[in-house]
Parts: sequence; structure tokens; C-alpha cells
Amino acid sequence: MSGIKLPRAVSDLVTSFEKLPGVGPKSAQRLVFYLLHNPDHELQSFAENLLKLKKNTVLCEVCHNVSETNPCPVCADEGRDETMLCVVEQPLDVLAIERSGAFKGRYHVLHGVIAPLNNIGPDQLYLHDLVKRLDEVEEVVLATNPTMEGEATALYITEYLEQQGKTGNGGVTVSRIGHGLPIGADIEYADGMTLSRALEGRRKL
Ligand SMILES: [Zn+2]
Repeated sequence: MSGIKLPRAVSDLVTSFEKLPGVGPKSAQRLVFYLLHNPDHELQSFAENLLKLKKNTVLCEVCHNVSETNPCPVCADEGRDETMLCVVEQPLDVLAIERSGAFKGRYHVLHGVIAPLNNIGPDQLYLHDLVKRLDEVEEVVLATNPTMEGEATALYITEYLEQQGKTGNGGVTVSRIGHGLPIGADIEYADGMTLSRALEGRRKL
């Protein structure tokens, strides 16, 4: 056995990459050795982009979308329809729905779904301040993904809003996006036409 080890700088970066979703030890090593062959200035800009990621973004205090400003442009835009509130899993879902042009209301970003197997319950999501945003709202559109977790989360939110006395007479209508979206689909990857149809075909819960 020789005592040769990877230089610390290499193994540290491998460890960092291994923490990324979907990256195993082998891919992490491959990425690090790939980077090692990059010119200095490219590594420099890679490192700067990493540092800027958190420094130059905020979560909007109102809807929790990732933004450069707080409140985000959608929350700050007085021309948006205040009576419609669309609940999504991730910031990329907002982007996809905005691209479709089919929704003119406001958003609420959960940053995840209820997934008991991964120990993610309602308290780990940006969910409970949703009820404070309903004064002007007439319809809450649940646009979580049509996956098992997405459906369970939509159901939970429906029941939660009921328990909080926000639905029913004089309260909000809760609807579920779905029509036209294949089961198991990801909203962030859906094309604009499919999303428009899914929003138009939402059904009351
Ligand atoms: Zn916002």
C-alpha cells in the first residue's frame, strides 16, 4: 500500500460535489478533475457565480419566490389580479407558468412538497402564512405537480384551508390544476400550451 492520497483541495471539492442531488462519488470525482483542466479565469468566474448565488438573491417575503428584489416583481406589480393565488412547489414552476402567459394572479411558493419518507411535513414548507394572504383572494389554484406527493400536498392544503375557516360561504374557492398534465409530470418542464390548458381546465375541489 502506498501512502498516496488525493490532494486535500481535490478531495474537499469532491466532498462538496457529492452533496449535490443526483451526484454520486464517481461523478463528483469526474467533475473535479474536469475542473482541474479548466483555465484559471473560468474557475474564477465559476467560484464568483457560486458566491453571488446567495448574496444577490432573496426570497420574496410575500410569496417566497427567489428574486433580486423584495418584494419580487410579481408581488410588487399592482396590475396583477389579486383575487387569484396560485400555489406552486418551486420557483421554476412560477417561471414556467409565467412563460405560458395563462395566469395573471399572484403566487405562493412552497419550496417543496409534503413527503413523509423524506421527513418533510407541512412545517418544513412555506405553507402556514398562506392563510394570511387570502383577504383579497377569491380562488386558490393548487398547482403542485401531479405526482403522489404533489396530490397529497394539494389535499393537505385544501383541508388546512377548510380547518382555518377560509373556504365555504364567503371564503375562497380552492381549485386543482390538472387537466392535460400527464400523471407524474413536472410543471417546470411542461410546455406553455399544456400549462395553459391545465390552468383553464382546473377543477373545483
Ligand atoms: Zn413575491
